[in-house]
Order: sequence, then structure tokens, then C-alpha cells
Amino acid sequence: MTERAAPRLVIREVETAILDLPIRRPHFFAHLTITRQSFVLVRVRTEDGLVGIGEGVTAGGPWWGGESVETMKAILDAHLGPLAVGEDASRVQPLRQKLDRLVAGNPYAKCALEMALLDLVGKSLGVPIAALLGGLCRDRIPCQWALATGQLEADIAEAEEKIAAGLHTQFKVKMGRGDPEADTERVAATARALAGRAKVRVDLNEAWDEATSRRFLPRLADAGVDLVEQPIPRWNLDGMARLAEALPIPLMADESLWTLPDALEIVRRRAAGVLSLKVQKSGGLLTPKKMAVLAEAAGVPCFGGSSLESSVGNAACAQLWATIPNLPFGCENFGPAWLADDLVIEPVRIRDGALEVPTAPGLGITLDEDKVAHYTRR
Ligand code: MN
Repeated sequence: MTERAAPRLVIREVETAILDLPIRRPHFFAHLTITRQSFVLVRVRTEDGLVGIGEGVTAGGPWWGGESVETMKAILDAHLGPLAVGEDASRVQPLRQKLDRLVAGNPYAKCALEMALLDLVGKSLGVPIAALLGGLCRDRIPCQWALATGQLEADIAEAEEKIAAGLHTQFKVKMGRGDPEADTERVAATARALAGRAKVRVDLNEAWDEATSRRFLPRLADAGVDLVEQPIPRWNLDGMARLAEALPIPLMADESLWTLPDALEIVRRRAAGVLSLKVQKSGGLLTPKKMAVLAEAAGVPCFGGSSLESSVGNAACAQLWATIPNLPFGCENFGPAWLADDLVIEPVRIRDGALEVPTAPGLGITLDEDKVAHYTRR
């Protein structure tokens, strides 16, 4: 009988901090405009002194998922961190199950911790996280930019600038504010202005109802928009299914998709033709990886969604997206270029319209401690 090996990555402490970073321009959502972005930075330290890092971040506050950086820090400090101390960080799955049994919900906070565990495991083995998740299907991921100034001329000017710089040829227009007719006209004009040179998608963030969507979305398809993201409320899967059936372009689920059972339900009810995977809303990298497998079995393509991460969270997304075979729509992890500053030595780069997957062990990035100190909330 062989003796069971002692745990190799015993967790000694879990540290958290809130950081506030400036962004390059105000960012417009259906119900909110943001001017800065906040992050929870998690550091998991082992008894041997190895450190894994993770990031918790929402798309500009609690409006999307209920959590905020303040709730993440509170639940990490009082509950998730203490539950992890003394555990073996290399046993990521059972530790995640323990966290789910003892803390309901809070996927963003759990994501930050799970990301740090995977970073630790990768660093301890000397391999990038992608190698732990099955290996690379690609080392660059086509990446779209969000046009979110809320104004036609400014959106088009921003797109022109990105195209001219060779940075992006896929754009997602944020819409859903004000009169639907005027909003539709604005976005249709954007799509027509970029026709033939760029792909244009839209994200309504649940702002319309089914009847409004039925009336106006076909006009966007006529103008050349090739994908519609979450036009109606997250709970209305029957409405999503009817819209998906009626529209000539794919409908993507984002707010409707959080958990693995959500993915099964969406696929089973044909409530969307594309799944927007996100590590933050799904509590880390492991669940969206499973969703991608489920979607692959159902013949449903996936998309790499963003919660407006810094290079820390973006590195995690890049590591995961690179391992998903059915990702024909690429991703939208433009956060580091959208932020006015970053938290790492070498930002995760977008070149020629694609996100480059870091190759160093773990997440593949190194914190810039001066920047971290500078942006830490006191
Ligand atoms: Mn979305």
C-alpha cells in the first residue's frame, strides 16, 4: 500500500484588495454610464510562499449580477477565504464544491478565488492554465470592440480609428436606451457606415420586451447586424426562443446564462443560437469550460464574453477561450485597451484584431506592484 502524497499547495492565506482604475472614455449601457472600473484583486499564498492571483470584476457595478467589488471583498474576507485556508490548492474542483456548499451564489467572488487557485497550480507545474484545460485550440482569439459612446458619430469615429489602426474589425454596439425607433436608426446607420469593412453586433442588455424586439430587430438585421445579444429579460427563455426562431440572424444569450443547468435549459429550449460564456458570472473557468462541452454536443457555438476585465482577468479569459473548439464568434476581451492604465508588467495584447494568449505559467502575467499600490482603494 502506498501512502497518500501530502498536499503540495497548502493555502496559508487569502488576501483581497479593491482597486479603482480610470477608463479612456465614459462607457454607455442601456441603464447606466460608467467613468471608472473597479476590481477585487485576490492573492492566494501557500505555506511554501507561492502566490496565485485572481480578479473579481463586474461590468461597472451591481446592475448586471447583483454583486459589486464591495460585496466580493466582504464575502471573500469573511467566508470564502477562511474556507480555503488549510486546503490543497491543487484540488481545485473539490475546493470549488466546498465553496458552493457553504456559500450560495456570489459567482464573481468565487471566480476571483478559483482563478487564483488555477494560477497557483499552473505556476507550481510550470505550465499555462490552458494546458490544464486541455491545451490550445488556437493561440490568438479574434476580439471585438464595444462601441459604447451612445452617439452615432462618436461610435463611427471610434470604429474607424480601430479599423485604421488594424486593431478590430468586429464591433458590438451597446444600445437599448431611449426611444427604440431612434435607437434602432442610430445603430442601423452605424452598421451601414461600416458595412463591408467590419462586422457589427448589438447588445441590448435586456432593455426591450419581446414585442419591441420583434418589431425592431429585423431592421437591424437588414442593416447588416449579424448577431443580437440578450434583447429581452434574462428569465424570458420562451420569448428568447420565439425571437431566435423568427430572426434571420443568431440570437445570443448572456444575462440568461449563469450556471451549467442554465446552459442545458437554453440549449434544450432553443432559447439562443449562441452562448456568451463569461468566467466572472459563472464563478470561474471550470463551469464555462463545461458549458462549452455541453454546447458542442448540441451543435451550439459559443462566444467569449467579457466583464470588462483588467489584464489579470483577461489573461484568465484568454487561457480558457483558447481551449474551446466551438468559438466561431471569437471574444470581446478588450478591457486592457479600454482602461487608461493596467495592473501588470506586460498587458495582455490585442494585435491584428485578436487577443494573444499569454504563454508564461499560470495566468501568464506578472503584477506591477507599484500600479497595484497606486490604485488600491484606501
Ligand atoms: Mn452582454
